[in-house]
Amino acid sequence: MTRTLAIANQKGGVAKTTTTASVGAALADQDVSVLVVDLDPQGCLTFSLGHDPDTLTKSVHDVLIGAQDIADVLLDTEDNVTLLPATIDLAGAEALLLMRPGREYALKRALAEVAQDYDVILIDCPPSLGVLTLNGLTAADEVVVPLQCETLAHRGVGQLLRTVTEVQQITNPDLKLLGTVATLFDARTTHSRDVLSDVSDRYDLPVLSPPIPRTVRFAEASASGASVMRGRKNKGATAYRELAENLRKHWAGQPLATFEFTD
Ligand code: ADP
Ligand code: MG
Repeated sequence: MTRTLAIANQKGGVAKTTTTASVGAALADQDVSVLVVDLDPQGCLTFSLGHDPDTLTKSVHDVLIGAQDIADVLLDTEDNVTLLPATIDLAGAEALLLMRPGREYALKRALAEVAQDYDVILIDCPPSLGVLTLNGLTAADEVVVPLQCETLAHRGVGQLLRTVTEVQQITNPDLKLLGTVATLFDARTTHSRDVLSDVSDRYDLPVLSPPIPRTVRFAEASASGASVMRGRKNKGATAYRELAENLRKHWAGQPLATFEFTD
C-alpha cells in the first residue's frame, strides 16, 4: 500500500522543501521506493534534487492540466527518489485549474496512475493555500506541518488547520493531520522549546520526534543545488533520518513517536 504524505504550511521558509527532500532521501536510503512531488512554481525541490527548472520542457503543470501523462514527466535523481518536477509554468496552473470541474482532484487522479510503483509519495506544497495546496491535501493520506520555532511561528497555523478541516469535509474525508515537524530548532536556548510548546498546546498539535536542529550545512546544500542529505554526518541529516525511521514505524502500524516536553 502506498502512503502519501503532504508537507504543507502556507508560510515560506519553514523547511517544507528541505523536509521533503531529506525525508525522501532518508527513506530511499532505507530501500523504500519514493516519489517526491514538487508543487511549488519556484521549483526549489526540483532544483535541490539536481534538475534545473528553467531547462525542463515538461512538468507537473502539464500533468495537472491533462497535457502530459505523469509517467512521461517523472525524473530520476541522484538521491534515488523519483521526482515529479515543477517549473514556473505552475504559476499559471492556479488560473487554468480554476476553470475546471474537479480541479482539486487533478493531482490525485494523476498519482493514481503510478502509485503502485512507490511505497511512499511525498508532496512538497507551495507557500499558499490556493488550488495547488488543495490538490496536495486532496491527494494525500496524511499531512505534516513544518513549523519554524521562532516568535510568531503560530501565525497562519489556525488558517492552515481550517483548510485541512475543510478538505476533510469536502474533498478528502480520510486525510489525517499527523502533527508538526519542528524545524530550525535550537536546543541550546529555551526559546525554540517555548514557541513549540505554545503552538502545540494552542492548536492541540502533536510534535513529531525528533525536532530538526538548525545546521549551517543545510543552507549551503540547498544553495548549491546538492541534496541536503549528502553531507551525511551533520546533525540535521541525522535528525531527518530518525524522523524517516519514525514515519516508517508509524506506517507499519506502531504509534507515531512524538516529542515530549520536559522541564
Ligand atoms: P520552504 O520550502 O518552507 O520555503 P525551505 O526548505 O526552502 O523552506 O527552507 C528555507 C531555508 O532554510 C533554505 O535556505 C534552507 O536551506 C534553510 N534550512 C532548512 N532547514 C534548515 C536547517 N535545519 N538548518 C539550517 N537551515 C535550514
Ligand atoms: Mg519550498
